[in-house]
Amino acid sequence: MTAPTAIDTIRVAFQADLGAVVTAQDLQSVRDRYLGRKQGAVAALMKSMAGAAPADRPALGKAANVLKREIDAALTQRGDTLDDTARPVGSVDVTLPGRALPFGRRHPLTLIREQVESIFETMGFEILQGPQVEDDYHNFEALNMPPDHPARDMQDTFYLEQPMPGGGEGATPPATLLRTHTSGMQIRYMESHEPPVRIISPGLVYRRDTPDLTHSPMFMQVEGLLVGEGITMADLKGTLVSFLQAFFDAGTRVMFRPSFFPYTEPSAEVFISCVFCEGTGCAVCKQTGWLEILGCGMVHPAVFEAVGYDPERYTGWAFGLGIDRVALLKYRVEDIRLFYDNDLRLLEQFPH
Ligand SMILES: [Zn+2]
Repeated sequence: MTAPTAIDTIRVAFQADLGAVVTAQDLQSVRDRYLGRKQGAVAALMKSMAGAAPADRPALGKAANVLKREIDAALTQRGDTLDDTARPVGSVDVTLPGRALPFGRRHPLTLIREQVESIFETMGFEILQGPQVEDDYHNFEALNMPPDHPARDMQDTFYLEQPMPGGGEGATPPATLLRTHTSGMQIRYMESHEPPVRIISPGLVYRRDTPDLTHSPMFMQVEGLLVGEGITMADLKGTLVSFLQAFFDAGTRVMFRPSFFPYTEPSAEVFISCVFCEGTGCAVCKQTGWLEILGCGMVHPAVFEAVGYDPERYTGWAFGLGIDRVALLKYRVEDIRLFYDNDLRLLEQFPH
C-alpha cells in the first residue's frame, strides 16, 4: 500500500512548511499548497485514490479527511498566533489606526464676533439677533434718516420691494429691504423695552458695494446701544476704550474725532494706534499711525422720540463696528473677499 505512506509524507512536509511560516503571506501560501481545491496536496491525494483498490477506498478517504482537518486546524491555530502586522489576508486588523474624520472649524468672522460678544457680556450687555430682511421704517426712518438721505439711495440699499415714487397710497405696504446696518434691532428693542437699555446686536448686513479688497456686498457688523438716565459721552468713551484695549492690546491708544451720523449727535469716529506699526507709520495706516475702527455717538433725540422715550429724561450712546474690518486687522488678512469665498486653505488656518 502506498497511500498511507503518501499521507505520512504530506503530514511531515506540512509540519516543516508550517514551522517556516513567518508572515500572513507565508501562511496563506502554505494553505494554498496543502488545501487548495485544485493544486493542493490533499486534493491530489483524494484524486489518487481513484486508482486504489475499491476495498481500500473507505479507509483511505477517512485518513485523507482526518489529514485535511488536521492541516486546517493547525493553520488556523498558527494564524491566531501570528503578530498583528502579519494577519491572514482578508481578516480585519482591529489594531490599525482609525481614519480620522476632518474637524469642522469656526469661521474667522465667527471667532471675532464671539470675542466681541464675550467682552461686552462681561460688561453686562445683552446680545440680540434681529431680522436680516427689514422694513424701511426700522432701517431708516426711525433712525432719523429722512427719505432723501444719501444712505437710502438705490446705489447703497438692496430693496426687496421697490419704494413707490412720491409715496401716497401706493407706498403701502412699506418697502422691505436687506438691512444696511443692524441698527434696526436697536429700534425694535427700544419699542418693546423701557430703559435702562444695554444691548449689542451682531449680524450680517448688506450694501450694494462692488466687491474689492475692503468692500463686500455682505459683511458683518456689531452695534451697541446703552440708554439710561444721566448717560454721557464719558461713559461711551470709557466703555469703548475698555473694549478696544481688551480686544486688541492693553497698550492700544484710542482717538475720538468728530464726525456725522444721522442717528447720533454729537458723533465721533474712533481710531486706534496702528496694529501693524504701533503708530510709527506704515502702508496700512497710510503713514498716519492710526486706523479707523468704529463710529459712535450720543443717540439723537429724534430716535428716542420715534420709540416713545422721553429725550429730556433719557440719554444714551450707540456705536457700530465692522467685524470684517476688525478681522482683517486682527488676522492680518489683506482681502475681505477671502472671508466669504470659503476656501478651505484659508479657513483651516484658524483654530477650532
Ligand atoms: Zn501703521
